[in-house]
Amino acid sequence: MKHDDCIFCKIANGEIPSATLYEDEDFRVFLDLGPATRGHALLVPKDHFANLMELDDEHCEKAILLARKMAVRMKKVLKCDGLNLVQNNGEAAGQSVFHFHMHLIPRYENDHAHI
Ligand code: 5GP
Ligand code: ZN
Repeated sequence: MKHDDCIFCKIANGEIPSATLYEDEDFRVFLDLGPATRGHALLVPKDHFANLMELDDEHCEKAILLARKMAVRMKKVLKCDGLNLVQNNGEAAGQSVFHFHMHLIPRYENDHAHI
């Protein structure tokens, strides 16, 4: 289910173009507009879920498997030294786009990124 006024629904479903690293039937992974580090990407389901608590089991399982696959790929391609998997739920936790997403944030020695 899509929400008409949700920016990540539009990006995930290709209505708004994005720098896409990966796409399948259920998810899109694309570069963050305001990257914390080089290669900072967002993993977003094509269906709308506001947050982790609203996500269904099927998407939850697929999301973590895809996150692992992307992390392996990003380490190889970007040659990063580490990677943060970040996922915010609710305004109080720093969520600013209320469509479930995971941040894949490559880390480099001494990058001084604020995550
Ligand atoms: P949150 O704070 O909700 O966990 O993360 C939202 C993320 O989405 C932020 O890192 C922000 O830079 C990114 N973002 C917000 N709007 C857009 C957009 O239109 N395109 C892309 N690619 N990223 C966005
Ligand atoms: Zn949405």
